[in-house]
Amino acid sequence: MAKKPFSHAGIIRFQGQLMTYVPGQGPCYRCVFKEPPPKDAVPTCKQAGVIGAMGGVIGSLQAMEAVKYILGVGNLLTGYLLTYNALTMEFRKIKLPTNTKDCAVCGDHPTITQLIDYEQAVCDLKH
Ligand SMILES: [Zn+2]
Repeated sequence: MAKKPFSHAGIIRFQGQLMTYVPGQGPCYRCVFKEPPPKDAVPTCKQAGVIGAMGGVIGSLQAMEAVKYILGVGNLLTGYLLTYNALTMEFRKIKLPTNTKDCAVCGDHPTITQLIDYEQAVCDLKH
């Protein structure tokens, strides 16, 4: 909504994924993930576990996306979702849909025009 580029990433156990959004150059987060998962459908960090090294791997890839964006070099993960399976040591670069005109955020007639505070499980590591 702020028309700012960003890198999205997520990790859980031995799986990680990331994508880069640059306004006007590819699908946004909401183009790809149309609805948040139902509450309690995704395990919390406490339930599933987060391995620090996974944050290092995926976070470093996000940092490289930022460096490339700032320098204006290379190919960003704009229009792609990169997945990483640490158990099999496999990366997959998945092409994302390019039709964004029906998107609730970046489409021709957006229906989401302000931030929504979805109720989701949090990383409840305090308990
Ligand atoms: Zn979109």
